[in-house]
Amino acid sequence: MFDFLSKKFSGIFSKLTGKGSLSESNIGEALQKVKDALIEADVPYNLVEDFTESIKNEIIGQKVTKSLKPGEQFIKIVHERLLHFLGGAGDANFSFQIPSTVMVMGLQGSGKTTTLGKLATFVQKQAKKRGKQRRILLGSVDFYRPAAVDQLEILAKQVGVGFYRASNADPVRAAKEIALYAKNNGYEILFLDTAGRLHVDNDMLQEIQQIDLSLRPKYKVLVLDSMTGQESLNVAKAFDQTVPFNWGVLSKMDSDTRGGAAFSFRYALKKPIMFVGVGEKSEDLELFRPARVADRILGMGDILSLIEKAEEKIKKDEQDQLYRAFSSGKMNLQDFANQMDMVGRLGSLSKIMKYIPGAAGMNVSPEMIQKGETEVKRFKAIISSMTLKERYCPRIIDGSRKKRIAAGAGVKVEDVNSLLQRFEQSQQYAKLFKRFGRF
Ligand code: GDP
Repeated sequence: MFDFLSKKFSGIFSKLTGKGSLSESNIGEALQKVKDALIEADVPYNLVEDFTESIKNEIIGQKVTKSLKPGEQFIKIVHERLLHFLGGAGDANFSFQIPSTVMVMGLQGSGKTTTLGKLATFVQKQAKKRGKQRRILLGSVDFYRPAAVDQLEILAKQVGVGFYRASNADPVRAAKEIALYAKNNGYEILFLDTAGRLHVDNDMLQEIQQIDLSLRPKYKVLVLDSMTGQESLNVAKAFDQTVPFNWGVLSKMDSDTRGGAAFSFRYALKKPIMFVGVGEKSEDLELFRPARVADRILGMGDILSLIEKAEEKIKKDEQDQLYRAFSSGKMNLQDFANQMDMVGRLGSLSKIMKYIPGAAGMNVSPEMIQKGETEVKRFKAIISSMTLKERYCPRIIDGSRKKRIAAGAGVKVEDVNSLLQRFEQSQQYAKLFKRFGRF
């Protein structure tokens, strides 16, 4: 997500931070590069102009603060303006009101149907945290794409929520039928999928408008494919003019998008992006946090996201246990294996890299990441072919044990040696850690 802009911006800033003072010429140069990067990311020209102009005005109006170096001050201003563009603080505590109907709109292929499953999963996850479960119903009046209704039925089963197939063939009547079913059967939230076409057309918009008038859904949500760049803003405007929506979901932010749509959406439409889709699975939905996105674009990394992910996936006691092992300086190979397991559960290394500050500018090639991932897998295989005693007391691993372990894991003796070396290094870190305390 936002790798493209992040890479471009970190290049611009790394040049500036080295400078002792900001001159008109180096600011001008940096601003031009910011402009070029945004245009390349498919942000409409007039928005790019507005954005860079607002940075310029801000710089002119600012007094130099002593606590910040000029380069840092520039970044701070860009950060502030970026936040303003992306939509301020965002709504980290968003939850759907109960009961409610949520009408989901978007072009065919935008990820609309998938998003219904994701939103249902989001609601269930939120409820589960409070020890509750919500009664959720999915329904579809997308009668134009063959199998769209079947796809939703399968999705509802996978996610574990209700599904209702309308008997009416007319979309507006079908929508009413589904809403009535939801009401009569005590469903708390109805997510309704609407017709998607390949292009915005009047008939489609009229139909959605009719459904809107008859159902009066509490939420109208637009799903936009972030891969479509500037064009997606025109789609959003067309929808908004006929059926004003509450907020947007930008799908496919995990793919090779340059992020132009996310950058421009709020500013161009004056509506927030509430969620971003970051994969094809039902769990792959995140609340859109403008502040974090701004941090990420500016190469400050997204440590908070990483911590949140870690907290979700790693049980607290496991962390404590590892922390004790690590901080006591007495790690064994079993702890080492557990540590690799924890990293494994956070996602692939390539995913993790995106969250580390400055990593975008580090130019870590996909090959290097691939190599790292292969190495982690190999290390895990080696440790699993050790006896418990060897894992807890690696000192006893002599030549003949190494041979046996290597044969068991299907690797060479050198691989076993390289694991033991790595382990030795991490022991050194552990000792430092013990001396200086938690970082
Ligand atoms: P609809 O026609 O708008 O209902 O679109 P679908 O929900 O069927 O999605 C179209 C395609 O996009 C499917 O192959 C989905 O798996 C894929 N897709 C949807 N959301 C995302 C996302 O956030 N990331 C990625 N990588 N793929 C997505």
